[in-house]
Amino acid sequence: MRCPWCARSGDKVVDSRSAEGGKAVRRRRECLSCGRRFTTYERAEETNLLVAKRDGSKEPFDRAKVVAGVNKAVKNRPVTEDQVEQLAVKAEEKLRRKGPVITTQEIGIEVLSQLRRLDDVAYLRFASVYKDFQELTDFERELGLLLQKRVARKAPPRRSPSRA
Ligand SMILES: [Zn+2]
Repeated sequence: MRCPWCARSGDKVVDSRSAEGGKAVRRRRECLSCGRRFTTYERAEETNLLVAKRDGSKEPFDRAKVVAGVNKAVKNRPVTEDQVEQLAVKAEEKLRRKGPVITTQEIGIEVLSQLRRLDDVAYLRFASVYKDFQELTDFERELGLLLQKRVARKAPPRRSPSRA
């Protein structure tokens, strides 16, 4: 972003907040050359994936929030930053196919199904956090199905009873 004061590029974001009722992100930037500040707005046009919240409002999907949530779940686990970023990118790709409006539950389910492949402990941590916050919803039904699959996968292969 070119500085509107001195026309040089290179700046750092000094403040970032939701604006226009969640439709935009307002960023205060500081020019690295002249030190003066200016404001940019990032709107959902570029990323028209919207998240419907429980109060009925909508906000642009923010991959950084997914990354932050997953980072909490993978704390002290053998999972790299790159893996978390890739997980978030994959989850976003899948969620975009369900767009333009998705629910927080759908995000949770998608993140869970990605985490399941990555790390068992992180998966369960993320699942338990979600369970705490959700009412009994489709999400829990989906979660139940995911957990059942896990159990099924871990069960030893069934042996046919030997016939004498
Ligand atoms: Zn400048």
